[in-house]
Amino acid sequence: MADVIVVGGGPAGISAAIYLQRFKRDVLVLMKDQGALGKADSIENYYGIVEAVSGAELIARGVAQAERLGVKVRKEEVLAIEAGDGFSVKTAAGVYTAKAVLLATGMSRTNLKVRRYNDFVGRGISFCAVCDGFLYRQKKIGIVGNGEFMLEELDVLRNFSKDLTVFTNGEKLVHTPENVKIVADPLVEILGTDRLSGIATSTSQYPLDVLFVAIGTASASDFAIRIGALMDNNKIVVDADFMTNIEGLFAAGDCIGGLAQVAKAVADGAQAGITIHKHLKSIKS
Ligand SMILES: Cc1cc2nc3c(=O)[nH]c(=O)nc-3n(C[C@H](O)[C@H](O)[C@H](O)COP(=O)(O)OP(=O)(O)OC[C@H]3O[C@@H](n4cnc5c(N)ncnc54)[C@H](O)[C@@H]3O)c2cc1C
Repeated sequence: MADVIVVGGGPAGISAAIYLQRFKRDVLVLMKDQGALGKADSIENYYGIVEAVSGAELIARGVAQAERLGVKVRKEEVLAIEAGDGFSVKTAAGVYTAKAVLLATGMSRTNLKVRRYNDFVGRGISFCAVCDGFLYRQKKIGIVGNGEFMLEELDVLRNFSKDLTVFTNGEKLVHTPENVKIVADPLVEILGTDRLSGIATSTSQYPLDVLFVAIGTASASDFAIRIGALMDNNKIVVDADFMTNIEGLFAAGDCIGGLAQVAKAVADGAQAGITIHKHLKSIKS
């Protein structure tokens, strides 16, 4: 079991990992890609940057710095996190365990851009199979997404109903799941009056009792909701030590809100690294 798993290799996650490693903590960073910073062509407002650098270059430098200090960095997408005796963190490659987890996955999820989506959030549109799947036993369940995260959610939903339809919304599936209907047309509108009653694609209409949204990659808020961490307006609520209401589960960077800048993410990560180290000392004694 590692001391800490950091989910996210952006400025918040890497900064925390550097502090933790220098406290001689056993730390593993799992990162899917380059996150928000990778989309920035040019960064010139961060301390010490004389000549502007690309976000991709800044990430490469941060990861190289962490690895030089001994941090283990793996390029893996985290699919699920469970809390129990410590935490287990599932990726496509396997399951890792740790005494504490830092969520540093940047801005939250991609929402579905279809007509009347906002009218039905919480009224037939759900974001958590573990939380809400049980409510839809033997019902008509739809799920929208096309990646590993969708497949993970789909596996949970199989426990509750056999009437399952995957809507890829025009995207290509990473793997084709068995024993489900698959609709590849782009989604156009959510149907219903008080609650969702179905979905319209560009060519047809599909009656549904619920639509689970699992687009792209699971974000910090997806993990937080499943574990029962408090959220405020899609941001994870943390205390002054960057700990959520779940003992040992921390969050830092864009996923907790505030100034969405590299400087703030790095500062969050540094502070979280220090408080996680203190937390680990306290649970040892
Ligand atoms: C176009 C653009 C331009 C910007 N320009 C500037 C600028 O000039 N100056 C500035 O200070 N800030 C700028 N920003 C903002 C800055 O990039 C962010 O505030 C900062 O990167 C936040 O850091 P973070 O570590 O919280 O998240 P991110 O940098 O988004 O890192 C998130 C990490 O989490 C990983 N991740 C997410 N989900 C998973 C998962 N399920 N499993 C594994 N890993 C996962 C990602 O792969 C990534 O490594 C810009 C942002 C954008 C989009």
